[in-house]
Amino acid sequence: MASPGRLGPVSDDYIRLVPTDPDWQPRPAAAAAAVAYVAGLFAGPGDTVEQVRQVFYDRVTLIDAGVHTERIACPRCAGDIGMDWLGDLVRENGMSFDRLDVAVPCCGATVELNTLHYEDPIGFARFEVSAMNAVRAGYELDTTELARVAELLGHPVAQILARY
Ligand SMILES: [Zn+2]
Repeated sequence: MASPGRLGPVSDDYIRLVPTDPDWQPRPAAAAAAVAYVAGLFAGPGDTVEQVRQVFYDRVTLIDAGVHTERIACPRCAGDIGMDWLGDLVRENGMSFDRLDVAVPCCGATVELNTLHYEDPIGFARFEVSAMNAVRAGYELDTTELARVAELLGHPVAQILARY
C-alpha cells in the first residue's frame, strides 16, 4: 500500500493535554511517564504519531487550538466576545500571562481568561503534553485515557484539539 502523501495545504494537528489548574506543574518523572503513556496510545498496528513531547512553561501560557478557536462567550453576561479581542490581547501581551483576570469587552466585568466559554476548548497552563499528527481509529483520548494521564501526572487534565 502506498504511503499517504500530503496534498494541498499542509497543516499540523496536535492533541494538547494540560493540567486543569493553570499554575500546576508535574514532577519531571511524572511528566515523562505521561509522555510515554500517550506515545503508547498511538503505537498500535497502523497507528502513527510524529512526535509526543512535554513542555514546561515558566509562566501561565495560552494553549490555543489554532484554527479551531472560533467563538468565545462571556461567563457573566453570555455575550459574544470576538476572537479579534483575544488576538489583540495576545499581540499586546504575548502568549504568557502573569495574571489571568481581564476586563471583558461585552459587559466590562473582570473575569479570569480561563473561565471564558470557548466554543472549542483552549487552555491556560504551565505544562503540556502534545501529540503531533497522531493517527489511530479513535483520534482523541477518551475519558479512560484522560483519567490515566491525570493519574500519571497527579492532576486532572483537559484535552485541546488544535490545528495549525
Ligand atoms: Zn460579558
